[in-house]
Amino acid sequence: MVSSIGRYLKHAKDAVATIFEGLSVTMSHFVRKPYTIQYPDRTAVRVQDTLPLRYRGILEVDLEICTGCLACERACPIDCIVIDAPKDKATRAMLLSRFDIDIAKCMYCGLCSEVCPTGSIHHTTEFEGADYSLESMIRRFVKDPVLAYKAKKGEETDPLIAPVLDRGMEFLAEWAEPVDMKKYKKEQEEAAP
Ligand code: SF4
Ligand code: SF4
Repeated sequence: MVSSIGRYLKHAKDAVATIFEGLSVTMSHFVRKPYTIQYPDRTAVRVQDTLPLRYRGILEVDLEICTGCLACERACPIDCIVIDAPKDKATRAMLLSRFDIDIAKCMYCGLCSEVCPTGSIHHTTEFEGADYSLESMIRRFVKDPVLAYKAKKGEETDPLIAPVLDRGMEFLAEWAEPVDMKKYKKEQEEAAP
């Protein structure tokens, strides 16, 4: 009888001690610095600026330098890209009447941008693509049909197209060269605030 009362009291004591032990962990969070941060408005640096080199974010297309070659559409293993590039009956010039990318399906493998001859289709550092319907996640780059880009012999001289093409070629160069990670990390550290 005495030993069962003793056991009961010990259990009661353990229960009270356990409750206080648990509460002490909870209470300690009132005086502790939080580990979490309010995203995105209270991050010290824009998250996009902290992403590694060659980050494969949501795809972008510069229609001005798209030749309509369909290489990206063919390279995509899961048919995210749909391009319509009919020939204008009168001029025989190629038009781009549709260039859609389904970013809900895209797995960001980069195969489409690798084969693009002009860097027209490329990854960005954008990653916040959530939306309320799958339909709205199809990015439609053609509003009105446009002429497909025809590469010139020699340098591009059109002042509106030349900088876009230069940028496209920079994208291609960035992916073509092996990355010197030591140099890259050093540059990142130096650029950090
Ligand atoms: S990144 Fe990959 S999955 Fe996405 S569109 Fe390009 S080829 Fe298709
Ligand atoms: S984005 Fe590039 S690969 Fe795709 S059709 Fe245009 S030029 Fe060709």
